[in-house]
Amino acid sequence: MSKVLLKVENLKKYFPIRSGIFSRKKSDVKAVDDISFEVYEGETLGIVGESGCGKSTTGRVIMQLHEATSGKVTFNDVELTTLSSKQMRKARRDIQMVFQDPYASLNPRHTVQKILEEPLIVHGIGTAEERKQKVQEYLEIVGLSAYHAKRYPHQFSGGQRQRIGIARALMTNPKLIIADEPVSALDVSIQAQVLNLMQRLQQDLKLTYIFIAHDLGVVRHISDRVGVMYLGRMVELAGSETLYEEPLHPYTQALLSAVPVPDPVYLREQIILQGDIPSPSNPPNGCTFHTRCPFATDICKTTVPVFMEVKQGHSVACHLYSEA
Ligand code: SF4
Repeated sequence: MSKVLLKVENLKKYFPIRSGIFSRKKSDVKAVDDISFEVYEGETLGIVGESGCGKSTTGRVIMQLHEATSGKVTFNDVELTTLSSKQMRKARRDIQMVFQDPYASLNPRHTVQKILEEPLIVHGIGTAEERKQKVQEYLEIVGLSAYHAKRYPHQFSGGQRQRIGIARALMTNPKLIIADEPVSALDVSIQAQVLNLMQRLQQDLKLTYIFIAHDLGVVRHISDRVGVMYLGRMVELAGSETLYEEPLHPYTQALLSAVPVPDPVYLREQIILQGDIPSPSNPPNGCTFHTRCPFATDICKTTVPVFMEVKQGHSVACHLYSEA
């Protein structure tokens, strides 16, 4: 078993909702509500769920771009949640993010050279000449050319811009990359190229990934293990193949039943969920999925199911399994 690189324990992130002339707190949006998981060195952990389930907020709280409401994030045996902003800036050298929209995350007025060397300048790495060399080297590593360093972001296609976003994340030689929907904004034909690039880089540079996405097909392609989130909570976590072949949680089963299968002989029964996803500012009591779950019983309406390991390496939060 590889070493645990990142450990998230009972992490919560609530955003206050304020109103009135004194901006009094009315309630909270429970974007992330008590989640725990580990990420092992060298693996890809996929995190999936519908929009608003808290998966992107989880990534941002790990990076400390949002301050956690409570809970612990430990990276490489250092507890990030207790670091000062100066210490955290240093720690970010080892944890980098790739964003969904490469155009929005690249400064349009800067050349690629300037964009890529910025993290090196922030962390005081190398001389001007060394930085120039490294930019050229990393442009080639991500499948672009050294001469692209002189160009501006608008002179590239969407897929090329995401390659620049990936190169920027790699400049400080990080150990962990948090990729937040990195291929969602790209054409399907380009998605596979970027995913293949990320897999190659993972092997060559010994990277660990947290891969956040709403598309289960994309997550399956790249992940060793997959966690499923619903309304701020982790409801299931298992090895990628296990999760896709034997999903236990009714929400995971419904999500997977909606994924088209490229086999005309194999017909999967589609589970249609009733109702809309409830508001995270007013989540249902008990199991937050009970308002849409076809198997809900009385206990589901009052008691939060514990997220626990029910088979080796397969955890789920559902009373159907805790009773068993
Ligand atoms: Fe459904 Fe109850 Fe399981 Fe929640 S705990 S997923 S409502 S069966």
